[in-house]
Amino acid sequence: MKTLIIEKIEPKRIGELVTVGRILGETPDLLALGEGEVPGTYPRAYQCPETIAANLVDGVADLIQRDGYQVVLLSATTLGSEIAGRLGARLKAPVLSEVIEVKPDMTVKRPLYGGKAVAEYKIQGNPVILTIRRKYFEPAPLEGTTAAAVFNVESPSVVLLSEEQVQTQGVRLEDAEIIVSGGRGMGSADNFEVLREMAGLLRGAVGASRGAVDEGWASQTMQVGQTGNIVAPAVYFAVGISGASQHLAGIANAKCVVAVNKDEEANIFKRARFGVVCDYHKFIPALIQALREEQ
Ligand SMILES: Cc1cc2nc3c(=O)[nH]c(=O)nc-3n(C[C@H](O)[C@H](O)[C@H](O)COP(=O)(O)OP(=O)(O)OC[C@H]3O[C@@H](n4cnc5c(N)ncnc54)[C@H](O)[C@@H]3O)c2cc1C
Repeated sequence: MKTLIIEKIEPKRIGELVTVGRILGETPDLLALGEGEVPGTYPRAYQCPETIAANLVDGVADLIQRDGYQVVLLSATTLGSEIAGRLGARLKAPVLSEVIEVKPDMTVKRPLYGGKAVAEYKIQGNPVILTIRRKYFEPAPLEGTTAAAVFNVESPSVVLLSEEQVQTQGVRLEDAEIIVSGGRGMGSADNFEVLREMAGLLRGAVGASRGAVDEGWASQTMQVGQTGNIVAPAVYFAVGISGASQHLAGIANAKCVVAVNKDEEANIFKRARFGVVCDYHKFIPALIQALREEQ
């Protein structure tokens, strides 16, 4: 399959897409978006400084048609989804989003109904555009760098005025090996402080359910789940989280889930390796105390 990856210069994301590309055949070509060195080596590589979907799509569609790409791979991020939808319309090509499994014969799987079901599709004809859910494929290690051919877009219709980094303390959620997440059961924004303390002791990051984000106790960037961050830490603590399927969709590849919930019927216990049926007010301070004694 002649495959093109379109992704920002982020080695982990490109690495995941290279892994998917190799399942379908050889190492794919790359269209790297943004400034900076292009990591890894590819049969062909292009680089485009533009990172706005609306400005990219006409030029990218021409490239796909000219070079006869059969598969286009993007990450299921906001940018990837925007490019994929527009490319699909422009090329009259099928788009399958949030793909979690790919086979060499072009059967692909993706979750449905908030992660309660998985659908399998067989794709015929080409080109086809796939967005790949993050953290489902091991990123291929990218060695060296590539001098990519410059790919420019003409007459942008959307202009980026400014970018502001959201301040996050400590370890980033997507890089964290340990995540301590709080849900509506935390009861207030102030109560998240104990989770921050615990995450600090474990050198982890603090996450949240949508329940907690909707209450305004945690920022949207902390949300874990189908419409938040997809994470795959070694240990995931779910504190006061009921375990709705949309939340579980974000932790499908977490290695060890520890649930703390006072309701023994809570759905989270079906996903957890270790479960603590307890009011977190009792358990978390005791755990923090034990962690302090360890150190
Ligand atoms: C299209 C769509 C997308 C969605 N995307 C997401 C998503 O990305 N991420 C996400 O999380 N949700 C998502 N949701 C929402 C999801 O369906 C749930 O509503 C949400 O996950 C519930 O959050 P929660 O578990 O914190 O709250 P609740 O369901 O209210 O659960 C709170 C839990 O805390 C426990 N509890 C209460 N007090 C204590 C205490 N003192 N000690 C211990 N335990 C206690 C309770 O027993 C309960 O189990 C989505 C929904 C839809 C429809």
